[in-house]
Amino acid sequence: MPLTIIQMMPTLALVIQQPDAGLARHSPVPTAEAPQHGTYDDHGFERQARFPRTADGTLILTVDLHTHSVFSDGHVWPSIRVEEADRDGLDALAFTDHLEHQPKGADIPNSDRNRTYEVGKEAAASAGITAVMLINGAEITRGMPPGHVNAVFVKDANKLLTEDAKDAIMAANDQGAFVFWNHPNWLPQASDGVARILPFHEELIAAGKLHGVEVANGTLDAYSEHALGIALEHNLTVLGTSDIHGLIDWTHNGAHGGHRPMTLVLAPERSPEALKKALFAGATVAWINDDLIGKAQNVKQVVQACLTLEPKGYLPQSSVMDVTLKNHCPLAFTLKNTGERTFHNVSDVVRVERYDETRLQVRMNDERKTLVLETIALNTQVRPREHLSTRLSVDISAFERP
Ligand code: ZN
Repeated sequence: MPLTIIQMMPTLALVIQQPDAGLARHSPVPTAEAPQHGTYDDHGFERQARFPRTADGTLILTVDLHTHSVFSDGHVWPSIRVEEADRDGLDALAFTDHLEHQPKGADIPNSDRNRTYEVGKEAAASAGITAVMLINGAEITRGMPPGHVNAVFVKDANKLLTEDAKDAIMAANDQGAFVFWNHPNWLPQASDGVARILPFHEELIAAGKLHGVEVANGTLDAYSEHALGIALEHNLTVLGTSDIHGLIDWTHNGAHGGHRPMTLVLAPERSPEALKKALFAGATVAWINDDLIGKAQNVKQVVQACLTLEPKGYLPQSSVMDVTLKNHCPLAFTLKNTGERTFHNVSDVVRVERYDETRLQVRMNDERKTLVLETIALNTQVRPREHLSTRLSVDISAFERP
């Protein structure tokens, strides 16, 4: 059954009922549950990434599970990571300094591998930053196999300092950690740029000890379709991360329209427990540039939450319906029209910018009750080189045809 706007977007009812108060170019839809991030001067640009709830009320959390600080080979103190996350409006941030790679060891001996997290927590408390959930983590940093592996939600990162990589992964699992394979397409470990899974990984996956894989990594500046293929074949959780070492703003231009690659996590509530459970359940979408990448059912939930149709009425003396396509999310969408309804004012490829809207004139032919647009969202990947097909629909039965 086609969903109406109201059914699809309960939290947006207010906006729909008050078209004049509609989406300003740079003002995202506030939700009652949205925590209060700090206010920063980004030259009038709305950089904070806010996603509306999905049709069934699920939250779309914004999460970065791979970051570095001076406690390994990053270039900033953990307080900067916390403030960056607050500026970006992230729901959660993990500290994942390298366990074994400690190039600043002469100046920062760092004998306690939990210090990044602890210093970050202290910094958040003293700065009054409460809207970012902070997660203790570590990066197990080895040659292939396993390559680089992150463990997040660890209780004591020091216990992961083992001779054998497998022991470190087991120690993380013993603490209930969520464990994932980082940048499997990293050129020093995959010289042709192709991510390939090895028996070492397959054994871990079979034993339930490896739970996710990065398909997008900000330091590599890359999306890996092969990593997506591995994730789908082995039912691993799809992840996007920044893997930031320097500054988010220098790398991703956050104050001027860019954003760090991150993971969107579909969770029923905003808590570390719900987040962790959703990660284990694979309820994620990786977001890099304008691309949403993941299992089709998850990408579909995000796309359906982001886009709504608002009918305005028939054009004078015609059966062409004037309709506004609204984008409630912080990324631009590119849609290809594949259905029976054709457009009067634009071609079959439509782009709608972040937190923006665009006008469509739709030829309705004999249809009078429901406006349905069958589309392919070209800025999505649900299998390697395959985009999401989805339908947008809205009730138009209240409109009188001229
Ligand atoms: Zn890393």
